Amino acid sequence: MNLPIKTDIRALSKDGLKTAMEAMGEKSFRANQVYEWLWKKSATDFDEMSNLSLQTREWLKANYVINHVKVVDKQISNDKTIKSGFQLHDTHIVEGVLIPATDRMTACVSSQVGCSLSCKFCATGKLDRIRNLNPDEIYDQVVHIRNWANTHYKQPLTNIVFMGMGEPLLNYKNVLAAIQKITSPEGLGMSSERITVSTAGIAKMIEKLADDKVKFRLALSLHAANDDKRNSIMPINESNSLASLIDALHYFHQNTRNRITFEYIAFKDFNDSIADAKELLAICKKVPAKVNIIEYNPTGDGLFEKANANKIDAFAQFLLKNGVQATVRRSRGKDIDAACGQLANKKHENALIK
Ligand code: SAH
Repeated sequence: MNLPIKTDIRALSKDGLKTAMEAMGEKSFRANQVYEWLWKKSATDFDEMSNLSLQTREWLKANYVINHVKVVDKQISNDKTIKSGFQLHDTHIVEGVLIPATDRMTACVSSQVGCSLSCKFCATGKLDRIRNLNPDEIYDQVVHIRNWANTHYKQPLTNIVFMGMGEPLLNYKNVLAAIQKITSPEGLGMSSERITVSTAGIAKMIEKLADDKVKFRLALSLHAANDDKRNSIMPINESNSLASLIDALHYFHQNTRNRITFEYIAFKDFNDSIADAKELLAICKKVPAKVNIIEYNPTGDGLFEKANANKIDAFAQFLLKNGVQATVRRSRGKDIDAACGQLANKKHENALIK
């Protein structure tokens, strides 16, 4: 017997919900109440909606589901980073992280189940891309992580980075819809300036962000400052050359005036010399950006090693001396595989290693 598939109620817009509820004889303010339960109050069950009549709740239950994500395995690192798997309604699992610091509480969220880009240094790149996350699945990760910040550290969540699993610009529509909800007063009311979307570099989509005049920050995972090197570690560069990315970023900056960050993992004897820093400087002269130099987190395949600390310092000093804002980012949560590039559902059996 085929049971009718119920609609995920959070796939409806507010107007869509109003229309559906009016059609069953409800006043439109009831739809506002339901909408508030679904987003602002993050209800996971229609029975929580205590200001609705029993009849309305039964009707909602008969026609809709709330496909919320479930925390499946929460781990707390020695450095207080918290990571968890989030199980989606169709059993797939993505991961999200809370990174506490003295001046901020940052949520790192996933945008896709797996990833299609196969960056050579990234554990997520070894998984297949299964599907895009829906806006509510991204939103729910933020809600859970915000709750951890409150309950574990008594701090509000201040920042969100799209640096978990997946390539956010290949799930453009849903990522923007999630950010809309996260920043809306009807959702979490967070500031766009505290949100950073990180991309491996899809030039066309960066231009689209500019056309859409987005208000959040953009980070480009650069990691190599010439095409040959970048092609060898990031296959996406073969169809999105550095020149095309620089043009797109220039356009983005002109249209939005938003800050751009280059992320640059320092790999030993690959991209950590002063000659490499010079090439990076040339790019920074074309696009106003700050540089985050990231420590490489081993993913277990032995392909790369992290650069020596003194090399990283010299690299950063060279950039600073030449007027580029450069910071070295210490990696967090390594003991629980929560650091950048280590999110690979290691603990979960549905991880599909290529
Ligand atoms: N697809 C997006 C977001 C996910 S990766 C992107 O590529 O930007 C988030 C950041 O972690 C990126 O800068 C990525 O290059 C970096 N990263 C991936 N693997 C890493 C590793 N093993 N060590 C350190 N950083 C890594």
